[in-house]
Parts: sequence; structure tokens; C-alpha cells
Amino acid sequence: MAIKIPPDQIVIRPPVEAYSVLIPVTGGCAWNKCRFCGTYKGVYGVTQNYAIRSLEDVKKDIDKYAESNYHGFPVFLAGGNPTSAPTDYLVDIIEYVRAKLRNVPRISCYAKSLDILRKSDYELKALAKAGLDIVYMGLESGSNTILRIMKKGTNAESMIKAGKRMLNAGIMISLYIILGLGSYKYSEEHVRETARVLTEINPTIFRFRTLNILPGTPLWDEWKSGDFKLLSPVENLKEEREIIAKLGENVTSQVFNDHVSNYCAIESSNIQEDREKFILTLDFYINNPKMQNLQRKNLTRM
Ligand code: SF4
Repeated sequence: MAIKIPPDQIVIRPPVEAYSVLIPVTGGCAWNKCRFCGTYKGVYGVTQNYAIRSLEDVKKDIDKYAESNYHGFPVFLAGGNPTSAPTDYLVDIIEYVRAKLRNVPRISCYAKSLDILRKSDYELKALAKAGLDIVYMGLESGSNTILRIMKKGTNAESMIKAGKRMLNAGIMISLYIILGLGSYKYSEEHVRETARVLTEINPTIFRFRTLNILPGTPLWDEWKSGDFKLLSPVENLKEEREIIAKLGENVTSQVFNDHVSNYCAIESSNIQEDREKFILTLDFYINNPKMQNLQRKNLTRM
């Protein structure tokens, strides 16, 4: 049985923040309904309700890191969607981090598009001015059909609007794409619409993840009953290839495959320059008989 944990305990953080100072700001996720996600629903042995921590408690944590000389590290403001908190509260925290910890190269957090759309341009600029550098957002798919089926609670147009407003405010964005999220039925739509949304936003970074279905998520039962099919390894790579191939010429994003779920590890610091190399490498993988015969495993521990 999953244990309910308080908001000062951290359940997940992006792999890229593995060596960062992690400061819990919110607990849980204000939405918590995505069918593929069990982060706060017990898949890691814990559940956590959505809550915004008190400013006083967050500042005490920052003080502790300062007293222990955690200077010079990136800082990740933890929780499913800290940008759901009031802007003044977030500005206060970010300014406090900058005042107490020296030489912080980056301050980041997760964000949801609807949280961003609720804030004015003035508020987003205030977050940038305080020193929020980058947010990690789950686009997952550009297909509204898939987003609706997966109960993402947002749509492509909201993501485009939120992404553009963040970039205009001076905050970088890193978007996650989940390969295989539309299964075979919506694979073509997933590719087409994801490439369209990425082209519209031209995010600072986008990152691929491969769908794995965790026990305890709503998607688990559907997969177990055979109603939802996981794409084969090679079909996941084909989706990735086609998304890259269909990007508009304007897209200059960095692209990362920095997750254990992926079947290839290639990366780019500018996909506009590396697109052809990226596609050639993916074609090499796709045409490799070993990859073609590789059986799909569903990872339940990542
Ligand atoms: S994917 Fe993100 S928005 Fe969806 S339930 Fe999980 S934490 Fe919340």
C-alpha cells in the first residue's frame, strides 16, 4: 500500500537536475489526471496531495543549503507544477535563492500550460527578472485526439500559446514528447501534430521519452486487457525520425534523448544544423535487423 507523503518530500525531478539543489515548493500535481502518469498516485510507493508549501518553510530549506555551502549548483524548484503558485510567492523564492546561494547557474521547475496561461505577461516577465531560467513542460503529443484520450487537461493550442509566451518573457522551455502515446491507431497523427506544435513554438529544447506503462496508472488496465498496444522498439524510432523529418525549417531547438526509456541516445545542440545527421543515424537504427527483431519490454522501474 502506498504511503501518503507531505509536500516537503520530493517524488521526481528531471534527469538533468540529478546534481542540482532540489527545493520542494509544491507537493503533488494540481491536475493529477493524466492516464499514463502515476507519479503522485502511488506507482513509486507513495502518494502526495497537491499543496503549496509555506514561504517560511521553503526559505528555511534555502537557508539550510546556504549554511551548508551549497553554492555554485543549479537549483530545481520541485513539485509537479510550482507555477500554479501565486507569482509574488514564486518571485520571493527565486529572489531568495539568488540572494542566499552564490553563483547559481540555473533555476528551473516543472510547469503546466494552464498555469502559465493564467499568468499575465507582466507576471511571466517578473519570474524571468527574478531569475527563473527554464521550465520543463510535458507536451507529450501535439495531437488533440491523443491529449484528450490521455486526459492531459490541455490542448495543442494552449501549449503553443503558453510556450510562446514563456519564450517572449525570456524563460527557456524544455518540452517532453512521449513516443508511442497514440499507440498504432494514432501514430501518424501523433507524428504530424507533434511536429506542427514544435514548429510553431520552436522551444529551446525538446526531449524524447518512450511510453512505458506503470502499474497503478489508468493506462495499465487497458494495456493488460490488450486494448492499448505498446509500439515496438523500431516503431518508436520511426515516430522519432518522422517528427524530426517533419519539423519546419525554422526549428533550432536542442534535442535530447536523455532517458533510460529511449532506444537511441543521439542528441543535437541545434536540430536545424543536425537534422540530416539525426535522420541518417535514426535510419541506421531503424534498418538494423537486430533493432527490427528486438522485442518490446515494458519498463516498470526507471
Ligand atoms: S503528467 Fe504531469 S500534469 Fe499529468 S498528472 Fe502527471 S504530473 Fe500531473
